[in-house]
Amino acid sequence: MLEIRLNCENCNKDLPYDSSDAMICSFECTFCAACVVDVLHNVCPNCGGGFERRPIRPAEKLVQYPPQKDRYFRPVKMEQFVPLRNLNSSILASNR
Ligand SMILES: [Zn+2]
Ligand SMILES: [Zn+2]
Repeated sequence: MLEIRLNCENCNKDLPYDSSDAMICSFECTFCAACVVDVLHNVCPNCGGGFERRPIRPAEKLVQYPPQKDRYFRPVKMEQFVPLRNLNSSILASNR
């Protein structure tokens, strides 16, 4: 089941379950749209994959299936990430 993480892993911005600003990779790494565009260039720093907008879980389902309680805050280490970003951002996410 999709993990709904309530903040951007890089900048710690709040991303409520119904945020239209939340982006996820296939492993549910979660970042705000600004970080995905400006910092990550659509390359997940953890897995190298691309991002899609996170779907909004219907409010009535949140009681039984609530968002994650723990915050994931691990700012990207740019000097380590840039080589992967440069490589993968030139390849369509669907072809990586
Ligand atoms: Zn962010
Ligand atoms: Zn990822």
